[in-house]
Amino acid sequence: MTGAVATQFRKPYVTPYEEESLDLPLAFECADGLPRLTYRDALPQEWMLGVLWARCGTAREGKVQWNLVHTLRQRRCMLKGLCRVCGKSATAPDTGRVSWILPSALAGDFRSPWPTAHPPTCKAHVGEALAAFPYLRGEAPVVCAVGDYSPVGVLANLYGEDDDGRVMETHHQIPIGLNESHLLNRALATQLIVQVMDLQPAEPVAAR
Ligand SMILES: [Zn+2]
Repeated sequence: MTGAVATQFRKPYVTPYEEESLDLPLAFECADGLPRLTYRDALPQEWMLGVLWARCGTAREGKVQWNLVHTLRQRRCMLKGLCRVCGKSATAPDTGRVSWILPSALAGDFRSPWPTAHPPTCKAHVGEALAAFPYLRGEAPVVCAVGDYSPVGVLANLYGEDDDGRVMETHHQIPIGLNESHLLNRALATQLIVQVMDLQPAEPVAAR
């Protein structure tokens, strides 16, 4: 998932700021007899869903990093059904369904679960999301009303140790299923992937 571009609108909720970048003092430890990625000063809450998550600040101040995604705000949007633009609920109060921009490739098969790392978009901010996230426009998007969704994986960087014991990145931004524990042990998660289910298509979205 790529980042946003500057628009005349607000800075999207999931877009990070340079000052929110933190050092990642990565190390390997032994957990249940297996090597596991950790921080040298890790806190228990830095693991979720069986994987270590990229550490980042939450000040939302400073220089905007339009091409990146804020790990903890993206994860929060995915877990709580929050809008990627405003960070508030994307659930329609009348139907209880979550508003989500999805690629039109999905059209015709609304019964199959569909994995995505793109957070929901509330109805009020569909236009703003399409302006700020141009890649959303590239797949003839449709706005869907999603009845259910659940976490299935993460986008992550994989790490290993070189001959001198230094922690090195070996793979960048690959999808890993939450059942792939042999990979999760070496992974630093940066975005949560959910599968959306029980979809109702809305009108195709006009590119702006
Ligand atoms: Zn919104």
